[in-house]
Amino acid sequence: MKKHNFNAGPSILPRVAIENAAKAILDFEGIGLSLLEISHRTKDYEAVNDEAESLFRELLNIPDNYKVLFLGGGASTQFFHVPYNLLEKKAGYVNTGVWAKKAIKEAKNFGEVEVLASSEDKNFTYIPKGYKIPADLDYLHITTNNTIYGTELHEDIDSPVTVVADMSSDILSRPVDVTKYGLIYGGAQKNMGPAGVTFVIVREDILGKVSRPLPSMVDYRNHIANDSMFNTPPVFAIYVVKETLKWLKSIGGVPEIQRRNRAKADLLYGEIDRNPLFVGTAAKEDRSLMNICFVMAPGYEELAPEFLEFAKGRGMVGIKGHRLVGGFRASCYNALPVESVQALVDCMREFEKMHVK
Ligand SMILES: *Cc1c(COP(=O)(O)O)cnc(C)c1O
Repeated sequence: MKKHNFNAGPSILPRVAIENAAKAILDFEGIGLSLLEISHRTKDYEAVNDEAESLFRELLNIPDNYKVLFLGGGASTQFFHVPYNLLEKKAGYVNTGVWAKKAIKEAKNFGEVEVLASSEDKNFTYIPKGYKIPADLDYLHITTNNTIYGTELHEDIDSPVTVVADMSSDILSRPVDVTKYGLIYGGAQKNMGPAGVTFVIVREDILGKVSRPLPSMVDYRNHIANDSMFNTPPVFAIYVVKETLKWLKSIGGVPEIQRRNRAKADLLYGEIDRNPLFVGTAAKEDRSLMNICFVMAPGYEELAPEFLEFAKGRGMVGIKGHRLVGGFRASCYNALPVESVQALVDCMREFEKMHVK
């Protein structure tokens, strides 16, 4: 049976990237060795790192005064790397869910943290708007896509202070004006590649302003000075990122993927809104294009386990909602084809016929 991969992360990757990765494991570029057994200091591997970086720069239109890093540790490590490097006195955070909260918790170890806005009052089903950003902050931290709750900030905000954004789950899903940010980071495993590599895009001039001593591995400037090779980079993961970015470029880049992502989201949200058995959980204007969350409509709640089994029997993978939201979550990352969304919609329609009152 064909599987439709709606996993939230790690998640679906382009088939061609996986095939090329499999080949590189067996024989890397015909050199008679596996990608897994060569030094990261060889010309062959450096070419991989360089191509991954230049594709990322090209696809996201990253200006020259921004540095691109591929690091280990996941987005969760950035939760403390960011304040370690940038927080001298006070930072502002917007609390839009579990990941934002974790970032807030870590930042508190380094200075004063002001939570400027929160959507916790409604279980993070919306994106706070219209909050004031004090001009005396070292930076403002936001999470652009809330993977668990299916809410997304759809545009780049204006801010009087440096904006730092966790873009783990929407990077490369839409065009971003990088110049509106001081630092963008995320784990690659949602929309950009496999688990094991973390991307950081940083404008160099925001660094070097804190008075505390920085451990070498934490100091972004060391990674910049060594082109992400200050220590051994996650070479295999970076290779798969490179292949994923090559695929994205080949299909027309970020504008084209945004068009496809919108089409997929329109299709699924359209069905959620039409089908009397289901209801969306996120505020309509803040609905994520990446993580689409829905539950059984009132009166049909007891059917949730049955729908999960029904969908599973038709090849749907990973649609069980996060325990904090319940119901269902269909993650529709870049590599997910529209056919998979159509298959899920067909499933929902069939289920409706069986059960509608
Ligand atoms: C998955 C996720 C994280 C955590 O990433 P790790 O790489 O596992 O540390 C952080 N922020 C967001 C928005 C996420 O979706």
